[in-house]
Amino acid sequence: MDLTVTGLLPQDELLLQLAEEAAELSQAAIKLRRVMDGRNPTPVGYQMAVKNLNEEMADVLLCADQISSLDEEQIARTKQNKLARWMERLRDMRRKEDARKSAWPGD
Ligand SMILES: [Mg+2]
Repeated sequence: MDLTVTGLLPQDELLLQLAEEAAELSQAAIKLRRVMDGRNPTPVGYQMAVKNLNEEMADVLLCADQISSLDEEQIARTKQNKLARWMERLRDMRRKEDARKSAWPGD
């Protein structure tokens, strides 16, 4: 008898849990952003918001570890490509800002 998580739960149930945990991670990130911003007060403090974000990230990663259809090599390649694209967009934005400041130094 397989008493591991994947032995006890079918993949569709694990996908459902992954979606649930991803939603909780999203809420934790939004809460921390709200705490950091401070414009809309919340009784949750910074330390608690960070702790919650860490916990929800752990939940997501734990669930992802159990999803057999995930391709870790494809994920790693995708992360690398998307990081390069993200950095290029940020650098392009910075170059445009610098060019604008040079053209209009008083702005
Ligand atoms: Mg959770």
